[in-house]
Amino acid sequence: MNDLRDLYQEMILDHSKRPRNFGKLEGANHEASGYNPLCGDRFTVHIKVDDDIIREIRFEGSGCAISTASASLMTEGSKGKTLAEAETLFEKFHKLITGDAAEPQNAEALGKLLVFSGVKEFPVRVKCATLPWHTLKAALHDGHKVVSTE
Ligand code: ZN
Repeated sequence: MNDLRDLYQEMILDHSKRPRNFGKLEGANHEASGYNPLCGDRFTVHIKVDDDIIREIRFEGSGCAISTASASLMTEGSKGKTLAEAETLFEKFHKLITGDAAEPQNAEALGKLLVFSGVKEFPVRVKCATLPWHTLKAALHDGHKVVSTE
């Protein structure tokens, strides 16, 4: 179990230091900004949606290791998904990090997002981990919007 925890921490560190899909996105047709005043995390998510599918997704901004890694893994996890699939993934992720995600069928769907399972032990970090996802949701529902965790 400790080995697994180390592996998870390593992956979070890796994604926070070298975030994937970081930067501007040409031709984005959905975007939103999110802010977590408790920690100072601030991100903008750019998405190109076509036929209800997330074709491209990138993000900009800065935050703590947890929020940056979450944004990075969120872009990897949601790219190529339909809007409905992305929302379902967020629901499963939210359950995982708020502690009531014991259902094993969720593990497969979550994939790499399981690295955040330890976050549930640090309630103040839950907002860091969910901020990118709230921002994604806002971007998909509205064209341009700013969301806050508070
Ligand atoms: Zn944070």
